[in-house]
Amino acid sequence: MNSTHIAIPTILKVGNGVLDSLGDYIASNGMKNAVVYFGDGLIDMFGQRVMDSLKNAGVTVLEYQELTSTKIEDIIELAFSINVKAQVLIGIGGGKVIDATKYAAYLKKLPFLSVPTSASSDGFSSASASLIVNGRRTSVPARLAYGIVVDTAVIKSAPEKFLYSGIGDLVSKITALYDWLYEEKCGYTTCNDFAMMIAKKAVNSFVRTPFSDIHEELFLKELVDSLAMSGIANEIAGSSAPTSGSEHLISHALDKMLEQPQLHGIQVGIATYLMSLVQDHRYKRVNTIFTDTGFWDYVATLDLKRKDYERAIDLAPSIKPFRHTYLHEEKYREKAKEILCDDAVLKKVLK
Ligand SMILES: [Zn+2]
Repeated sequence: MNSTHIAIPTILKVGNGVLDSLGDYIASNGMKNAVVYFGDGLIDMFGQRVMDSLKNAGVTVLEYQELTSTKIEDIIELAFSINVKAQVLIGIGGGKVIDATKYAAYLKKLPFLSVPTSASSDGFSSASASLIVNGRRTSVPARLAYGIVVDTAVIKSAPEKFLYSGIGDLVSKITALYDWLYEEKCGYTTCNDFAMMIAKKAVNSFVRTPFSDIHEELFLKELVDSLAMSGIANEIAGSSAPTSGSEHLISHALDKMLEQPQLHGIQVGIATYLMSLVQDHRYKRVNTIFTDTGFWDYVATLDLKRKDYERAIDLAPSIKPFRHTYLHEEKYREKAKEILCDDAVLKKVLK
């Protein structure tokens, strides 16, 4: 009999100004020596605040630097140069530095503190890292965060495209869960009930949150909390199936195909709307949240090509050949390509 044992982050702080308490969170969990990695240009923006917070709590910073690379060979080299006294690795920044720190922590078996400065995907709470392997973005196993600290004031001040990306990545649970159920129905897997419930609650609580502006505190907190819950759903399931279905395959295919892919959650969001139509499941809800948040308005400015999405649909099943989403069946790939040409919303945002 299989039973489920999972790790969850010990620290979860989401709120206005929590960045200034970073040191206290670390010290109160018994850690005294930290290594800090910042995203590109972020020492100027947050360095002083972070260093002050750590110092005031009696935490020694053994080393700190900005990381710009997500090449797997660079991160391996970095990991094995880490001071042996380090008790915790802190990653502060966007997806890249979080992924790099997460992977270094995994290699060194050290706890990792995830401090995202944008809410662009559920990466800050997931156990896998998106790194450059052989020149392409690739998902590799890494470490679940020991702690997650998200300052909503910081998230709010990041460029809006990151919020749209986070919204796209979160709403994708709608189609991902439906793919997972379909996979089970077809006899390829058994869904984990609890993981499914958590991921469903995460996205539903978010799409039902009333808001008039995406910068509102309650909206941002809902977004971040729900993204954090998604990471836990994966941990429970022991795979990314609860949060990553056919819509993610389309995005992964675009990452492989394009010289300059868009932000993860932007590609995933567009593909979520497409797949919700293919699945004939909650597409009105998906369209409403993308319309009300301004996601579609942003996407319309990107000059995206329909033919790229067509190719990505064909490539999608080969990204994860061991799965069985809707896109693993030819009739649904054909349906997806038809919808791409016929749907009024997609016609507006894809050229
Ligand atoms: Zn995602």
